[in-house]
Amino acid sequence: MDDLSRFCCLNSSCPDHGKRGAENLTVTFRYGPNKSRRMLRCRTCKDRFSERKGTSLFDCRLPPEKAVSVLEHIAEGCGVRQTGRLCQVNRNTVGRLSRLAGTHASDLHEELVAFSPEHP
Ligand SMILES: [Zn+2]
Repeated sequence: MDDLSRFCCLNSSCPDHGKRGAENLTVTFRYGPNKSRRMLRCRTCKDRFSERKGTSLFDCRLPPEKAVSVLEHIAEGCGVRQTGRLCQVNRNTVGRLSRLAGTHASDLHEELVAFSPEHP
């Protein structure tokens, strides 16, 4: 059984958009290396999306381990240059990733705050 409580529907017109643990999500199929990535489907709006959509790892050319390592360094308070050096990643890439991660967090916050159950 997959634990999907960390995921939420990403369709902004869905009544269950942004709700975590609402049990509206199911795994439709797996893909990618070792079938490690899941395609999720929302029962409420029938939308499908990758579990990585909306995260800073989605559509990122770095291997996931590398991207995670970069974000860990940023989270620990390392600067962009320092992180780039430690992870051997171009600092432009580090900057892009950290911006994406920051944007994701604030977008999610905005969405959750803006969410209204009255919404059509
Ligand atoms: Zn939905």
